[in-house]
Amino acid sequence: MRKRRPGPFSINVRDIVHHPGEMREASLEVAVAERWGEGLVAVAEGEPVVVDVRLESVHEGILASGTVDTEYTGVCGRCLNDIAERLQVEFQELFAYPGEEATDFEVQDDHVDLETLVRDATVLALPFQPVCQPDCPGLDPATGERRTENTGSEQSVPTDSRWAALQEYTPDHDDESPRA
Ligand SMILES: [Zn+2]
Repeated sequence: MRKRRPGPFSINVRDIVHHPGEMREASLEVAVAERWGEGLVAVAEGEPVVVDVRLESVHEGILASGTVDTEYTGVCGRCLNDIAERLQVEFQELFAYPGEEATDFEVQDDHVDLETLVRDATVLALPFQPVCQPDCPGLDPATGERRTENTGSEQSVPTDSRWAALQEYTPDHDDESPRA
């Protein structure tokens, strides 16, 4: 018999195991023990992950469905500014009773361990190309500085004498320009 220690994402289901039709709900808040995600953004080590799950006893096992609520941090893929965004993901998986067929998720003794399920759902939902804002102007290819909203359009136009003349009229007014 394989026995695993209940982890921080384990939920005791003793009261509904082998009682098809029974249901219970549970909530967990766990600070992740290690970074979740390998990309530009990830759920950082120590970040709280809140899981609300509904556990339904069915003939084959325990059906777990719920939501994950956490925050990911990292850098914008265009301008490299720090970003922190809330992430909410839904999941659903059947934890089967141990039997002849090996399954990815099994009821272990009297509990289900949601960690792999919650972690995979979260990591898959992380944006591959995160941006600090939908219209992030990115970095200026010439200077390597982050473009601001006000100067982005000007700098993307080749400077010629007409622009140079215009810029001389408003050399110090960037800060006063209304923000979009
Ligand atoms: Zn950005």
